[in-house]
Amino acid sequence: MSVQATGWSLIHYPQGLPNADSVRLEQKTLPELETGQLLIRNQWLSVDPYMRGRMIPVKSYVPPFQLGEWMEGGAVGEVIASNHPDFQVGQTVLHMLGWRDLALSDGTGVTPVDPQLAPAQSYLGVLGLTGLTAWVGLNRIGEVKAGDTVFVSGAAGAVGTMVCQLAKLKGARVIGSVGSPEKAAYLTETLGVDGVVQYKTCGDLSAAVAALAPEGISLYFDNVGGDHLEAALANMQENGQLVICGMIDLYNSDGQRPGPRNLTEVIRRRLRIQGFIASDHMADYGAFVREVGPALASGQVRAEETVVEGLEEAFEAFLGLFSGANTGKMLVKL
Ligand code: NAP
Repeated sequence: MSVQATGWSLIHYPQGLPNADSVRLEQKTLPELETGQLLIRNQWLSVDPYMRGRMIPVKSYVPPFQLGEWMEGGAVGEVIASNHPDFQVGQTVLHMLGWRDLALSDGTGVTPVDPQLAPAQSYLGVLGLTGLTAWVGLNRIGEVKAGDTVFVSGAAGAVGTMVCQLAKLKGARVIGSVGSPEKAAYLTETLGVDGVVQYKTCGDLSAAVAALAPEGISLYFDNVGGDHLEAALANMQENGQLVICGMIDLYNSDGQRPGPRNLTEVIRRRLRIQGFIASDHMADYGAFVREVGPALASGQVRAEETVVEGLEEAFEAFLGLFSGANTGKMLVKL
């Protein structure tokens, strides 16, 4: 019996901010299930800033999306048919064949998850790569400790909300930067963040950070790059660390942008600066879950989510990442 499935294809590689002309929602007839294959009905899709990098036709740490083919991304769904010995109908699985309603898979990169232990969508957010990114960046790259003053850009986003909470649990003082008063209120009132900069309205960003951290920053967690990285460099304590997780401010820029104008601060202040890719640290997944799982269960860590409903809204949800439409993890519910 043939099955109709629908997914989002990239039509051309966009310049600047992508728009509706860059993509198309397309139906396909899936082939019959062969031996060793399974069919998954997706329930939750992840949209992430790194996907913008896959819309550029150059080799990076993940290959670019192929034009005319359905895009890929994190997804959680239910196995609805299986000719694969390792997967049974009814199982909930995490996999990378997102941006579509039905996924035909040979089992590569498919991991069963337990929806009794945590809500299924958590495996895309707090208990997934998002949470691991925050945990690895803070603990393995940044070596956060009690008494640190941590500055986090993109602080109300998926990774940012986790960084704020995990750093607070370690006994750090946390300063965040966000794009709206609502997000600022959420960070201080709900997550207990110590100070928030509203970067769109604060004027001189570096001065605004200095006012909240007169003692200087010992650890900067960068999700944004650009002006935020410059403001951090200008406020670092001697021997401080900069953890470079992402630079969303640059993802839609045409051509190369110059690096921070004050990079020489790295020498003068004896700073360490290191980028990382969370998926290189899958060996840490167990340690991460052992620490974050109980904190989540006890309510010490909150799983903030912004949920957009329907596959047809998935691209708008993705674009919303660049306009600040999300607090916490941006998810699409099918
Ligand atoms: P996210 O922070 O949930 O979503 C994006 C948020 O960034 C928006 O809500 C918006 O919040 C803010 N933003 C968008 N454009 C901005 C701009 N030009 N200047 C300042 N802020 C801007 O996304 P995420 O998944 O948690 O990812 C956060 C960062 O980590 C991204 O840079 C991503 O690429 C990176 N990342 C890296 C790894 C890794 O392995 N290294 C893994 C996951 C994510 P406001 O309303 O506050 O502006």
